[in-house]
Amino acid sequence: MTTTQNTPKTVDATLVSTDPFTGEEVGRVDVTPAEAIDAVIDKARDAQQRWAETPLAQRIETLKAAGPLLAEHAEELGELISREQGKTLAEGQGEAAAVAGGIAAELDRIAEALSPEALEDEHTRSVLHYDPLGVCVAITPWNFPVLMPHWLVLPALAAGNAVILKPSELTPLTGQRYAELLNRVLPDGVLQVVHGADAQGKALVAGAVDLIAFTGSRDAGRHIMQAAGKGLKRLILELGSKDPLIVLDDADVEKAADFAAMNSFRNCGQVCVSTERIYVHAKVADAFMDRLLAKTADMKPGHYTDADATMGPMVDARQKAHVLAQIEDAKAKGAKVLAGGSPGEGNLMPPTVLLGVTHDMDVCREETFGPIAAVQVVSDDEEALRLANDSDLGLGGVVFGEQAHAAQIARRLQAGMIGINKGIGGATGSPWVGARQSGYGYHGSREGHRQFCQLRVVSEAKASPD
Ligand code: NAD
Repeated sequence: MTTTQNTPKTVDATLVSTDPFTGEEVGRVDVTPAEAIDAVIDKARDAQQRWAETPLAQRIETLKAAGPLLAEHAEELGELISREQGKTLAEGQGEAAAVAGGIAAELDRIAEALSPEALEDEHTRSVLHYDPLGVCVAITPWNFPVLMPHWLVLPALAAGNAVILKPSELTPLTGQRYAELLNRVLPDGVLQVVHGADAQGKALVAGAVDLIAFTGSRDAGRHIMQAAGKGLKRLILELGSKDPLIVLDDADVEKAADFAAMNSFRNCGQVCVSTERIYVHAKVADAFMDRLLAKTADMKPGHYTDADATMGPMVDARQKAHVLAQIEDAKAKGAKVLAGGSPGEGNLMPPTVLLGVTHDMDVCREETFGPIAAVQVVSDDEEALRLANDSDLGLGGVVFGEQAHAAQIARRLQAGMIGINKGIGGATGSPWVGARQSGYGYHGSREGHRQFCQLRVVSEAKASPD
């Protein structure tokens, strides 16, 4: 199979989605003209009024009916993810299966979070109601083309809102298919899809909507925040990151290196909580590097139909050029390339290991979003912490070390989600949350589900005892 380097996809009247490995067309969708977006919002407003009158329990039951449909189509949806985005079939199907399999339990948690709550003191009885907000816009990225829409669309709908989803222009077919499946159980107009790129995103943000839930890059998040400011619109921003991994002198080095390889290279490094910087104590640095390089050599980039492939290509030529520019900058400033480093065929980018990176290099400061393990050897914990916290981003962070020692370091790491001897994923019900410029707001969790609501507090005096 031949590889082709995709140029960034053009957005005219039709959006052509292509396989990032072969360049072949996967399918096409009509772009929503920016001037048609007000009509989409009007339709959402109209549908939302009836949907909001549907009791919460009934909305939850309606949405639960989408579970079996998503499960029935999970394989097909998973393959579509891989075709459009390039990730391996295991990754694509894993994403689709996680969404389909988790929907019923997630809806139960949403129902619990949105049920009225009673509070009472000596004089007053209050009830906290979680009302719908109105029309919500979900603008999503391409790297998890079903999971990212799902994390926003499901709680927003359950809360009684109408939702307008704008999937990434790089993965429109997956977003479209996901919405089609949900729409088989939803009333007309409650969930609509707008296709296009930033022009359509901007028109939605400028429209008469009540909440913009955005997952994507920091730059786009900054624009959206400015634009939403005019109407003081509510915002949820889940943005990029530069997650550090600290390997302490008492770490299980093999486990730390295995994690570093997995979390630097999965989905070709195109994950918001990828390991983007590695600080390893000098005492264990040699052993860590040996194992990291061995794991890197085991990686096999390829097409999703290649059963041996352990990672896919970059999503497009622009993303690949960005990664290569960071490697060139790091080399020019003294980093050593111990694996990979040169461009692969088409959009393929080999897993790359850099040693001796420093904070004057772009690779330590700007999100890479590509398969680079960038390593800096440190002499003690304080140096590791100082460097790990030297970023204005802070989605996740991971520490490997003896449990109590690692926990002590983790307490001082400035990030929204921290893993100790594991990735950042929290127990079921934990929020997905960023610190600093990685955004604000939550995915999942009680706090997250309530973001899609207007809280209304109704209080009455308690009868005074005679
Ligand atoms: P992107 O910001 O380029 O695009 C995201 C979405 O926003 C797309 O649908 C795009 O069309 C739209 N858009 C772009 N500019 C816009 C504007 N000015 N107004 C309105 N809409 C606009 O991001 P991407 O390249 O699709 O995704 C990669 C980024 O997403 C990375 O930075 C990654 O870290 C981040 N991300 C974050 C999380 C998280 O949970 N924090 C999860 C996944 C991805």
